[in-house]
Amino acid sequence: MIIGILKEPQGESRVSMLPEAVKTLLSWNTEVCIEADAGSTAYAEDNTYQDVGASIKSRDELLRQADVLIGIQPLSPEEIALTKPSAVIMGQLNALYNPDLTKLLIDQKRTAFSMELVPRTTRAQSMDVLSSMATVTGYKAVLMAADLLPRFFPMFMTAAGSITPSRVLILGAGVAGLQAIATARRLGASVFAFDVRQAAKEEVLSLGAKFVDVEGATEDKGAGGYAVEQSAEYLQKQKDTIHEHALKADVIITTAQIPGRKAPLLVEERTVRAMKPGSVVIDLAASSGGNCALSQPDQTVNINGVRIVGIENLAAKMPQDASKMYGKNYLNFLKLIIKDGNLNLNFEDDIVTGTCVCHDGQAVSPRIVQMQNS
Ligand code: NAD
Repeated sequence: MIIGILKEPQGESRVSMLPEAVKTLLSWNTEVCIEADAGSTAYAEDNTYQDVGASIKSRDELLRQADVLIGIQPLSPEEIALTKPSAVIMGQLNALYNPDLTKLLIDQKRTAFSMELVPRTTRAQSMDVLSSMATVTGYKAVLMAADLLPRFFPMFMTAAGSITPSRVLILGAGVAGLQAIATARRLGASVFAFDVRQAAKEEVLSLGAKFVDVEGATEDKGAGGYAVEQSAEYLQKQKDTIHEHALKADVIITTAQIPGRKAPLLVEERTVRAMKPGSVVIDLAASSGGNCALSQPDQTVNINGVRIVGIENLAAKMPQDASKMYGKNYLNFLKLIIKDGNLNLNFEDDIVTGTCVCHDGQAVSPRIVQMQNS
């Protein structure tokens, strides 16, 4: 069985597997081929893949010959048409929000796995690319803010006087938010955090941050630990509370998302205009509509000295460890579908079923089936 590791498109610096992961894959009695130059933006040159026993091929060869194609960003429709009818296509295909691609994969009877569909269960944690990339994102967002901020993060007592610690407000305490809290705390900032899920409060406090309480949030135990949409009344109360905290903040990092919906608007224009000049807002939800009214995807906007950074793919700014984590997640998933060097698709396994977009002309993941029926 030939496993192909694809080079990512322009602008994506991660690679789905670094040589160390490929070495493990080869030990499973498989043949692994790497697209030429696939790892160079993550500092893994072709010869480092060859050293562990992989061979280098052109993209065209890989698309036509591989039994399993592994990448991060999805293939184009033209490229999918070049793959073997029996090929398994894997990536972060964004299948729930890309119905045209999903339909094409079903119509062309390919088998496709979309890594963002990995169920968020304890057993699947080691395969969860969303958590891995959120960890990178939360960490990097704080470093980016610290770099832009014209102040220190920690408190200092110096001969030239004392410096008070910067105040950081984190909105959304999921995986990225918690990593941002931990990183900002390590840098010595005074950290405040807010989330609609009460379960997040304990985690925020355990990291040494203060929790901003806004009572009256709607929670749904059936939402698998995710947040749900809030009432207009609650959202207004929340915006007012955030406004009060924002006036004192040096940095705001927003991470609030609701699966399948536009990101909630948490930082209004009036709030940005009232913030201290020099302060920084990093909006990690910019690609799903933004948590800040003035953020623009992949742009830095300056409003009266307040810089608002809208980020789409921050994980790509730390390609080496992001790729390492991605590859490890992939290996843990591939263990479920490769046995003795051959493909072994066990649709009795909820992780395999939950992650599979389609097989044999049919949608498989319950979430994809539900999307099709809605
Ligand atoms: P996410 O990226 O979907 O959202 C980020 C955070 O934003 C969440 O904590 C959410 O509650 C919060 N949020 C949404 N609307 C908000 C609003 N109006 N105001 C403030 N905050 C708001 O979330 P995520 O980081 O992917 O994780 C969500 C949940 O999934 C967490 O409970 C996490 O522990 C859980 N999880 C479980 C696993 C697993 O078991 N394998 C893996 C990862 C995450």
